[in-house]
Amino acid sequence: ASNLKIENLHVSIEGKEIIKGLDLEINGGEIHAVMGPNGTGKSTLASAIMGHPKYEITEGTVTIDGKDLLEMEVDERAKAGLFLAMQYPSEVSGVTNADFLRTSINARREEGDEISLMKFIKKMDEKMAALGMGEEFSQRYLNEGFSGGEKKRNEILQLMMLEPKIAILDEIDSGLDIDALKVVSQGVNSMRSPEFGCLIITHYQRLLNYITPDKVHVIMQGRIVKSGGAELAQRLEAEGYDWIKEELGIED
Ligand code: ADP
Ligand code: MG
Ligand code: MG
Repeated sequence: ASNLKIENLHVSIEGKEIIKGLDLEINGGEIHAVMGPNGTGKSTLASAIMGHPKYEITEGTVTIDGKDLLEMEVDERAKAGLFLAMQYPSEVSGVTNADFLRTSINARREEGDEISLMKFIKKMDEKMAALGMGEEFSQRYLNEGFSGGEKKRNEILQLMMLEPKIAILDEIDSGLDIDALKVVSQGVNSMRSPEFGCLIITHYQRLLNYITPDKVHVIMQGRIVKSGGAELAQRLEAEGYDWIKEELGIED
């Protein structure tokens, strides 16, 4: 089974503490959503877990399947089964989407267990069709000239191809029109299995109309201040975050 466990996480950027004692556990079969106002540390959480060098972890532990994630290099984290979709995916010139994906898949496998070219192509065709991506996307350079919506679809393609144990998806809904939002959501829903746990980070509730989370967490001032079920996201959509601030006596 897949498990990501975050305990008492503290993260600083350039000496300023952004995440201040955050606890969160995600198991295979579960989709969690983390919501919160802008600038509360959602993306910081994602980047810190992935091992971005700018984010200094000053306290706490993060484990994947019981193994210390924080001791691992970035590529080891991926190999351990972690997937991170970035809010601003980068462009890589000269590397085609297909090459990138095949290299990424094989980097996560043991030597001698590489995916065959036939199997790879079949799988990629299948997943691209499911996401409504034209064939040309396999030979396009990674993210180069991709529209916002195409980049998001491409991230979900990566997710479906890599089949990680745990995925952290940061703002995969930003800039998507309704059709793209549905396609991206279907892609994530198709991943649901006991072996797959997912953390969806989103500012807006909209995405959660299409992906029903098992648990919803609200992050404020670098901590999870409230957790609940899917109905919590609906209340946030209707009422915003002020009632939570009032409940907790938080000043802006
Ligand atoms: P969210 O994703 O919830 O909108 P972020 O995690 O991006 O919030 O940001 C939280 C806080 O950390 C903000 O005050 C932001 O300005 C600061 N921050 C985030 N990343 C950096 C960085 N690379 N350098 C300096 N400050 C940063
Ligand atoms: Mg603490
Ligand atoms: Mg963010």
